[in-house]
Amino acid sequence: MAADPLHIAIMRHCLQLTLSCPISQTAFCVGSTLLLSASSPLFPSLRSHYPTFPPDDPNPAGLILGDGYSRQIPGNTHAEANALANFRSRHAELSSSTELPSAGNALKEAECYATMEPCSVRTSGGPSCAVELVRAKVRTVYLVSLHSFSPRYLERECQCSYENHDQC
Ligand SMILES: [Zn+2]
Repeated sequence: MAADPLHIAIMRHCLQLTLSCPISQTAFCVGSTLLLSASSPLFPSLRSHYPTFPPDDPNPAGLILGDGYSRQIPGNTHAEANALANFRSRHAELSSSTELPSAGNALKEAECYATMEPCSVRTSGGPSCAVELVRAKVRTVYLVSLHSFSPRYLERECQCSYENHDQC
């Protein structure tokens, strides 16, 4: 089945985020985005507060509620958890001056895109990204699939060799 062009476009955005990851010899470079679809009933009330996707599109597919990448927040932090944290902190800032749907309700409507499967265990302690996403009640998680994206595709997008992806 052909991949949805929107999913590919958002995943490219996530891959771009990976280019901002501080380099680590021992950890992956992951990018993640939380998207609220334009079909969500919350879209109209959030539209003026969050970037649209695609940017500058008069009829966007949705809103980027939060972006995250590996080690974006100091420490050994992960992309999906950082996207959630970035969304929540921006939402708290906005809510101090504007009436908005709650962060919890927005996350329930959101879909998460990630360039790698969210972790299920944090060896450094704390909740895994999978647990964080389940707790946030994010409705769907989309991943890059090697069945749809060849290693050569990833190599081109990440500007690293697939075999050495963990060191990019
Ligand atoms: Zn994680």
